[in-house]
Amino acid sequence: MHFVIEVDDLSFYARLNVPAPTLCPDCRHARRLAMRNERTFYKRACNSCKKSLIAYYPQEKPQVVWCPECWWSDKLDPFQYGKDFDFSRPFFEQFKEMYVKVPTLSLDVVNCHDSEYVSYCGDDKRCYLDIAGEANMDCYYTKFVKYSTNCVDCSFLYNSELAYECVNCHRVNNCSFLNRCLDCHNVHLSYDCRGCTDCFGCWNLRNKQYHIFNQPYSREDYKKKIAELKRNSYATLELLKKEFARESQKALVRFAQLTNCTKCTGDVQEQSKNVKESFDITKSEDSKWLCDVLDAKDCYDLDFSLYKPEQSIELISTLNMTYSGFCNASHFCNHTWYSDKCNNSSNLFGCIAVNKKQYCILNKQYTRESFDKLRTRIIEQMKRAGEWGEYFPVGTSGFGYNETVAQEYFPLTEQQTKSKGFPWWDKPPGTRGKETLKPYQIPDTIEEVQDSLTKEILVCVCGRNYRIVGYELALYRKMGIPIPRECPECRHLNRNKIAGERHLWKRRCCCNGETSSKGQASREKESETIHGPWPVYQNTTSHFHGKNPCPNEFETSYSPERKELIYCEQCYNAEII
Ligand SMILES: [Zn+2]
Ligand SMILES: [Zn+2]
Ligand SMILES: [Zn+2]
Ligand SMILES: [Zn+2]
Repeated sequence: MHFVIEVDDLSFYARLNVPAPTLCPDCRHARRLAMRNERTFYKRACNSCKKSLIAYYPQEKPQVVWCPECWWSDKLDPFQYGKDFDFSRPFFEQFKEMYVKVPTLSLDVVNCHDSEYVSYCGDDKRCYLDIAGEANMDCYYTKFVKYSTNCVDCSFLYNSELAYECVNCHRVNNCSFLNRCLDCHNVHLSYDCRGCTDCFGCWNLRNKQYHIFNQPYSREDYKKKIAELKRNSYATLELLKKEFARESQKALVRFAQLTNCTKCTGDVQEQSKNVKESFDITKSEDSKWLCDVLDAKDCYDLDFSLYKPEQSIELISTLNMTYSGFCNASHFCNHTWYSDKCNNSSNLFGCIAVNKKQYCILNKQYTRESFDKLRTRIIEQMKRAGEWGEYFPVGTSGFGYNETVAQEYFPLTEQQTKSKGFPWWDKPPGTRGKETLKPYQIPDTIEEVQDSLTKEILVCVCGRNYRIVGYELALYRKMGIPIPRECPECRHLNRNKIAGERHLWKRRCCCNGETSSKGQASREKESETIHGPWPVYQNTTSHFHGKNPCPNEFETSYSPERKELIYCEQCYNAEII
């Protein structure tokens, strides 16, 4: 794919002393994501103490897996695996050899309590299948949820409490089935609402109360009507979702959810400045190509990196890295390059599992002078071999491509994966055909469900078996939500779809002045791919462009063939007050 390197990019690369990239942003992104398996877990034994545990690697893979107790203890001596750099062989080859030998942590988890099945999480309490979470309590089946309590099946959710199936939301409380809502309380099945309370099936509302499908009600009528809706019934809820999908086509869609941001492009960003082509970002500055990142400054190509990463490039799953590049799963390091699972260290190069050390190359420690000399020589050799400035090749981690996050955002078939020379893993965990209860045997309303349901094995349309765990059931009861008929994996992938694409298209504002019919005609011309009638929207205020079509263009994650009414910032703000 063609890609452009801008003048600003070149000065960034010069500052970090790296060459301009050879791959396009998407290919670089997929390659990084292929280092991260965050949700394919296996039961196995710790290779050190033999205790049974949950890990990213199954027993039959060659990786040496240690439980956290063993890994963080003095038993782990990373220098035991240290090597002199062999100038007759490529760096990546030597690194990969060492990768299989150095013990790896069963799951990348920091300071979590009573949370056995969590992954890439910090400071969690009583969580289950929380992925990439931070300081959550009692959160189940969640992904990139931060500072939240009592949430189930949510993704990209911040500072929230009692939430179910909420995506791209900040500060929501007692809410379910929300997308792109901020500061809401007791709002359900809604899109792009802010500061609302007691609403159902609504879109584009600001500071409203007692609304159903965008119609206002009195307090008493609202309560009566909500009770009549019977959203505690699975069958009824499915109908309500369909009705909402149909009705909310009338919603105006802001080209991007950029809240208190200046000069940013991408989607779902808060309080950021000059962050380009980035997605799910908070409080970051002067950066480009970031995904799921908080507090970054002067960084390019980062995924899942938090705690103030600065002046860094191509990192994934890191905390507080500065002046670093091409690292994986490392925390609190500076001047650390091409390293993996290193902590609280500085001046590392090609190291694995090195903690609290400095001046190390391939897990061998040097004096400062010889470190500098050797590092320079290795970089020269890497330049000649075309390795310098490239992230670890796909396969370095030992994960099958299909076990990693790369498969979620850049899916490949088994054949495509193999033809690219990437590894594929054909023994995914989980069971099929072991169900003890058929979907039609699950009670329709949550009130009819007995505690014994947690003992049953259910089956999803995808064929995978799944269970309902005790805490999950308690939350469904508390919130009046029927038992989901899909497995956690399908629920997760569905939320990824709702969250939106992580790709930008140049588009024009859909606003065509004051008459809706004119707007519609031009919108039909705009795209050849029409799957049905375009929604119609009649502007309620006069816009800066008067009765002419809006001239504004923007970059949006909504592809041109999508049917939503995508408005520029000015037109959106003129309508949604
Ligand atoms: Zn152990
Ligand atoms: Zn499924
Ligand atoms: Zn416009
Ligand atoms: Zn307009």
